[in-house]
Amino acid sequence: MENTERSKNFIEEIIDEDLTTNKYEGRVHTRFPPEPNGYLHIGHATSICLNFGLAEQYNGKCNLRFDDTNPSKEEQEYVDSITNDVKWLGFDPEDRIYFASDYFDKLYEYAIILIKKGLAYVDSSTSDEIKEMRGVLTEPGKESPYRSRSVEENLELFEKMKKGDFGDGEHVLRAKIDMSSPNMNLRDPIMYRIRHEHHHRTGDKWCIYPMYDWAHGQSDSIEGITHSICTLEFENHRPLYNWFLENIGIYHPKQIEFARRNLNYTVMSKRKLLRLVTEEHVDGWDDPRMPTISGYRRRGYSPESIRNFANELGVAKRENVIDVALLEHSARNDLNKRALRRFAVLNPLKIVITNWPENKVEELDAVNNPEDENAGKRKLAFSRELYIERDDFMEDPPKKFFRLGPGREVRLKYAYIIMCKDFVKDENGNIIELHCTYDPETKSGSDTSGKKVKSTLHWVSANHCVDAEVRLYDRLFNVENPNADKEKDFLEFLNPNSLEVKESAKIEQSLTYAKVGEYFQFERLGYFCVDSKFSSNEKKIFNRTVTLRDNWAKMSKK
Ligand code: ATP
Ligand code: MG
Repeated sequence: MENTERSKNFIEEIIDEDLTTNKYEGRVHTRFPPEPNGYLHIGHATSICLNFGLAEQYNGKCNLRFDDTNPSKEEQEYVDSITNDVKWLGFDPEDRIYFASDYFDKLYEYAIILIKKGLAYVDSSTSDEIKEMRGVLTEPGKESPYRSRSVEENLELFEKMKKGDFGDGEHVLRAKIDMSSPNMNLRDPIMYRIRHEHHHRTGDKWCIYPMYDWAHGQSDSIEGITHSICTLEFENHRPLYNWFLENIGIYHPKQIEFARRNLNYTVMSKRKLLRLVTEEHVDGWDDPRMPTISGYRRRGYSPESIRNFANELGVAKRENVIDVALLEHSARNDLNKRALRRFAVLNPLKIVITNWPENKVEELDAVNNPEDENAGKRKLAFSRELYIERDDFMEDPPKKFFRLGPGREVRLKYAYIIMCKDFVKDENGNIIELHCTYDPETKSGSDTSGKKVKSTLHWVSANHCVDAEVRLYDRLFNVENPNADKEKDFLEFLNPNSLEVKESAKIEQSLTYAKVGEYFQFERLGYFCVDSKFSSNEKKIFNRTVTLRDNWAKMSKK
């Protein structure tokens, strides 16, 4: 799938056409407009890649704009995390980080223009009355008794709303469009509401706040955006945005809608993600099981793997659900190239090489990354006492089990072929130790024995390894679509086994120096990274990013 020339998507076709006709003097200027009321998720990531990607592709620009029109839900913490996530993905908004709240003065002026044109009025109905008068899709709405207020009265009341003479909800400013329009968005939409609330940026300057729909199109216009790319639910807001821009009489960007990206086995609504955090089903917005960008980062995804994923998806006009296996496939592809191979044993079982001298230590060469010659080699210590994975041994192995059992031989990778001679049990019948012998003729790289074995195991030397905690993750939800059953709360579908902690793993010594931001493959176990939140020098904690098995590659070959 990678590196193939893909055909242009419908957005690129529109941009090409506008360039041909010189519609925006050859400019391409996009924006990514998050509301700072939560952390960004993988759906946002695809939108970031789309908007910043188009700007890169066409030598244009892309703004990062915070749509911070709602003072009650927005916080600086979210602004910081969003900015950080965009940069981490590899996009640089440079000095183009804007806020809708920067335009509050301008928007107020625009509102005055509409009032003066008789196209906006102050409505003193209650919010219930307004809702009632709006009507339903199949029936026209009713005009408010305040709709015919004079321009002077509207100007005076709006000024007083701004000055703080009224309480929350006493009045609103509405656009005067058409109460019988089949498009509900055109039934005299609210432009401003009174909210005596502190805003994270404008402080207490304002007690009237613009509605999203009143702020969005004008913000695009003020910034000179050429192509305003948004998700499908805004398609029938477009006539409203056009109406505003035309009647204020300002520059007009082109809005293009595309379908949201959804991922199976997770939820994507910020409201639901916030519940997972506040009700402590996860350890934060950046929990490695969260579909947030910060979650994927902590889980060990590289920015490149997320960008590749987004590019492979392209853009669609219809809502669709993406198989999470495709994202994992993208991570594996990327990590396979960059991850350093290491040995770690998650469920250690001690083995004693009985014919190996007591204090002898041999340093063996191990390849850091077979996919990358420049990654070089490292030394692995081999000694009399080792650990292997508990499930690589069976006391009474069935036919198809090719790993270790009494009297059987396997290769220890980069080392020797060993044979299991005996095992020791504790009083409860658990196997606690194996006694093996090694064959000195079978050293990796200089094997003269001609022996063939069916299995190669990873291992660590008992005196040359370090204790660590390793966290394995599974899907956060048990079902593909936790939103499907409207009768039930989505939390009922949480997977109780989404986190498995291996507290007494043994890792090879070189991993003592592993740092946050480095990528590893623990051979035979998957890709791993140091946990950025809880790992310390005293206690190393690793997260599994993905397993090695790629279901997607298999599925797409079928
Ligand atoms: P909520 O989850 O609260 O409904 P939202 O996802 O719309 O909010 P915004 O902050 O408004 O969040 O989103 C910023 C931008 O990201 C918007 O332009 C939106 O089109 C885009 N976006 C959001 N979710 C997705 C998604 N799942 N797929 C693609 N783009 C998305
Ligand atoms: Mg939104």
